[in-house]
Amino acid sequence: MAGRILIADDVATNRIVMKVKLASAFYQVIQAASGDETLRMAQQDNPDLIILDVNLGDMGGVDVLRALKANASTAAIPVIMATGVADTRTKLTALDAGADEFLCKPLDEMSLLARVRSLLRARTTSEELRRRESTARELGFAEAQQGFGRAGRVVMVADRPERALVWRQGLRGLVRHKMEVLPKERALEALPGMAVPDIFVIAADLGDRQSGLQLLSELRSRDATRHCAVLVVHESEDRNSAIMALDLGANDLIRSDVTAEEMALRLRTQMRRKHESDRLRETVDDGLKLALVDPLTGLYNRRYAMPYLNRIAASAAHKTQPFSVMLLDLDRFKSVNDTWGHAAGDAVLVEVSRRLLSYMRSEDMVARFGGEEFVIALPDTNLAEARNAAERLRRVISETPIPLPGGNAISITMSVGVSIGGQAGRPALSVETLIEDADRALFAAKAEGRNQVTLGAYAA
Ligand code: GH3
Ligand code: MG
Ligand code: MG
Repeated sequence: MAGRILIADDVATNRIVMKVKLASAFYQVIQAASGDETLRMAQQDNPDLIILDVNLGDMGGVDVLRALKANASTAAIPVIMATGVADTRTKLTALDAGADEFLCKPLDEMSLLARVRSLLRARTTSEELRRRESTARELGFAEAQQGFGRAGRVVMVADRPERALVWRQGLRGLVRHKMEVLPKERALEALPGMAVPDIFVIAADLGDRQSGLQLLSELRSRDATRHCAVLVVHESEDRNSAIMALDLGANDLIRSDVTAEEMALRLRTQMRRKHESDRLRETVDDGLKLALVDPLTGLYNRRYAMPYLNRIAASAAHKTQPFSVMLLDLDRFKSVNDTWGHAAGDAVLVEVSRRLLSYMRSEDMVARFGGEEFVIALPDTNLAEARNAAERLRRVISETPIPLPGGNAISITMSVGVSIGGQAGRPALSVETLIEDADRALFAAKAEGRNQVTLGAYAA
């Protein structure tokens, strides 16, 4: 994974040493020698990561960091603060101002590169989410929702529960999130049915060597917990576990001798990131839903139906199994609107959709194709089965009157055209051809008096 990294340091030799380390891993490196220059380049050159010295000559590193975070166009860029002298106060100030990590020079190359990989990976994900969200928004599908400030849920897992209880005790008053301690055996099994935690804090060593890292991999590979943030607590001398944890997808590392204050700051940063990506993900999902689902009936729309039909056709060809495509159109629906009003017409469409859905199998696709026209695809369905299904649907609509909002109920009928694709010994037909075939059959059903099922030329 390539990435562009901005090194901000007022001392040229420091920049060169750092550049050599990063360039050997094929990162593109750009350099700034002052605070001013850092802010300008962060804005103009769109780096994926900034490694920021605590003192830049013209400005303090923390002030530069605050300025970066205060500007919307640079706020999301991850920042590693680097210092020559380890100083707890500066470290806490930097973490509080939004630094992702605070490292002491000379930087250990392996640890630095692992941290860089991890931050760049997170950056790629958040950029991708942002892109999808803005596409959805551009298409008018969704407005970004502001869901900030909700309390999160943190689950802590250590080799012995007492240890995690100590973490939790220390964080009381510093963190307002719900914090639970779980024994390692229950960290995974306790999940089904429960709200998924936002953050897991796990010890690298859960009794067996690196068992915490196994748990980390497990959390990353499961659908339910894939998006959870994971913070790994490691012994300060265990550099290998730390590096491995980052490469396995840990979002942050915490040394076991860390102060509660630092732990709280790191949790806060991860919680903010997690909420932000949840928000983006929800916006994207809602956007997709709005793009593909008909808002009145909740059925899929035409935009979804067409590629889906193509997939069914391809899989039918692959399996040499027939499938059916049906078009259904309500009879004399215009007169429903004319007599009872448009709202009554809508209620009829909703109820018809509900009945269609409830009488189809779960593998069938029901979509609203246009105004009062529906398309249904039935995979693995031969002619006899398709005709039966269509007949059953016709009766399901016509035999029970549909209640209207005002208390009346009216009889509705519909006409159905049926076509079959993927039949053995016949040439393969495109989805468009099958739909045309079903449409001609539907037209014939209307011409012959409506409220009936007619087979297309390719189905007969
Ligand atoms: P036919 O039996 O030949 O299908 O007659 P029809 O009246 O159903 O057909 P036509 O295509 O002439 O009219 C369809 C009507 O469906 C016209 C339109 O006002 C109505 N319609 C389409 N979409 C909606 C909708 O979302 N809500 C309501 N209430 N009516 C709709
Ligand atoms: Mg009609
Ligand atoms: Mg029509």
